[in-house]
Amino acid sequence: MGNEQNVATMANQEQEFGEEPLEVRESGHYQDEYIKGFAERWDDLIDWDGRAASEGDFFIDVLRQHGAKHVLDVAAGTGFHSVRLQDAGFDVVSVDGSPNMLAKAFANGRKRGMILRTVHSDWRWLSRDIVGRYDAIICLGNSFTHLFDENQRHRVLAEFYSVLAHDGILILDQRNYDALLDNQGDGPSHQYYYCGDDVKAEPEHVDEGLARFRYTFADGSVFHLNMFPLRRDYVRGLMREAGFQQIDTYGDFQESYKHYDPDFFIHVAQKA
Ligand code: SAM
Repeated sequence: MGNEQNVATMANQEQEFGEEPLEVRESGHYQDEYIKGFAERWDDLIDWDGRAASEGDFFIDVLRQHGAKHVLDVAAGTGFHSVRLQDAGFDVVSVDGSPNMLAKAFANGRKRGMILRTVHSDWRWLSRDIVGRYDAIICLGNSFTHLFDENQRHRVLAEFYSVLAHDGILILDQRNYDALLDNQGDGPSHQYYYCGDDVKAEPEHVDEGLARFRYTFADGSVFHLNMFPLRRDYVRGLMREAGFQQIDTYGDFQESYKHYDPDFFIHVAQKA
């Protein structure tokens, strides 16, 4: 096959959920979900300018408060936080298990005059691919939700813990699935993270073991993500079991909030 044809085939590649999409509940399946076409459109979904405005300097401030310099962005995606943090003077290494997302992150860095240091790695085997210890790990944009198996959640948090310095911090966020599962609130408003105007992101199916979201883009293309609906206090418990000593959980970047109000929870977990 000629090179042009090859590229066209990759771009036209479709997500693979098989005959029973609601039965797809596997931690490794993200690899088949973040295909090239979805990675190419991801930035329409997250809208870099809107996202930067809504989160402000929250992450930069938390990292500075903890004296962090070396940051591992383990769910780099298309590079939004890696670029912001590198721009703010942090020493950043960008990790992702999807080569498509990582390639897009690198291209996004280049567009902004930066070379991102990218590492293709799956969190489940992170310590195999990462050398040295980091002051902070960020796992943002509702990424931890891709792990469907409880043992693997334990394992991944242990991997994160092991590549952190003795006083390192983990910043991990998640959608407020409690509101979705308990049918509270107005559903996700996308006010904070997913700000693109021309994109619709809506839950197609929700049960205690699966949140399947549909993403419809302005050009009519449709993609899906199958995710595990993490409850807030369950995640806090997992972090505690992994050995993190203090866990502060913010709701849409605020310290005080009503449980069902925020779109997102942000956990800041300290090792010491
Ligand atoms: N942080 C980015 C953002 O906020 O735009 C991307 C978020 S996207 C929802 C989740 C990312 O996590 C994807 O790029 C996906 O490839 C990555 N991911 C999911 N499971 C992973 C795993 N087990 N190991 C490494 N990366 C994973």
